[in-house]
Amino acid sequence: MVGERALCERQLLARILSILGEYAFETHRRRRETTRHAFQQLSERAHLGNYEGVAAFVLEQRRDEQAFVEGHLNDLRDLAWSLISALSQMTQEGAESDATIQQQVQQLSAQTQRAESLDVHALRQALQTIRDALEQREQRHQRTLQQLQGQIQHLMRELAQARRESATDPLTGLYNRRAFEDHLQHTVGLNRLFGYPATMLLIDIDYFKQVNDTYGHAVGDAVLKAVAESIVRVCKRRSDFAARYGGEEFVAVLRETRLRDARKLAQQLAEQIRRQSVPVAEGESVQITVSIGVSELLPNETAEQWFRRTDMLLYQAKQAGRNRIAA
Ligand code: GH3
Ligand code: MG
Ligand code: MG
Repeated sequence: MVGERALCERQLLARILSILGEYAFETHRRRRETTRHAFQQLSERAHLGNYEGVAAFVLEQRRDEQAFVEGHLNDLRDLAWSLISALSQMTQEGAESDATIQQQVQQLSAQTQRAESLDVHALRQALQTIRDALEQREQRHQRTLQQLQGQIQHLMRELAQARRESATDPLTGLYNRRAFEDHLQHTVGLNRLFGYPATMLLIDIDYFKQVNDTYGHAVGDAVLKAVAESIVRVCKRRSDFAARYGGEEFVAVLRETRLRDARKLAQQLAEQIRRQSVPVAEGESVQITVSIGVSELLPNETAEQWFRRTDMLLYQAKQAGRNRIAA
């Protein structure tokens, strides 16, 4: 018999492992998705009291994360250093060639003061020296710029990738909660300024815990992906926005869409998901349903109020028996 305390500890460890996976860094060794999956498996085993390999994996991942972050910081430091030394070199070289040019110009000006001793040959040579100095300076600048451009492009690509990753949910590829919150604020802002209508669909999978408990986490994940695909298929306008809000909860924001049309879309979506079947084993598959809250943004409503109101509708749909829409 396992004591109650031991059971609690198992659950706690399983939860911690699952959190470590959810917020894992990408490292040189593994992509985020792979790490997440590995932590999830450890979490499931810990749930059953099997802690084998946990400490070693956490240690390895933690070390990798540290090395990865430090590596990136060093890259940044190197870039800052290159910029500084390039600038100081440019200034120094500039100062040297400026001195040469200045000297030539002084000589020229002295000569022109004494018009009787004007030496065309010396004049030509002085001009040539100035031209050479300017050309060399131009070439040096070009070289330095090219070197810096290479480094900057490399970092820009990494930044763009990081920005994309920070806005998307790795499992489904939909936007994540943070991106949703930004989008919601913009939508409400547009409504205030121009009166554009907007509707929100809050979608929650029914009895999802049972799917996980019966078929395991991998099937649960496949169900989440399938639901995300349905949402993308139904909310297909360029202005439609879909995100995974949390565990098995999704949200879609439909700009320039009235409640009547949004309700129809929600019905289509619920129907698609009902018809979808996700394979669980040889010849077996699982069917699921969703509950959806649908609402249109009211004049002067804040983003938070709008979301809370839609969440209440979703709650009503659940209370009324699930597998339905409340608008
Ligand atoms: P209801 O009909 O009331 O919505 O019941 P439910 O079981 O769907 O809801 P509940 O909130 O009780 O359970 C949600 C479950 O979602 C619990 C959690 O284990 C699971 N879950 C959350 N995130 C993930 C994930 O990323 N992958 C998998 N496979 N499961 C997840
Ligand atoms: Mg649910
Ligand atoms: Mg839920």
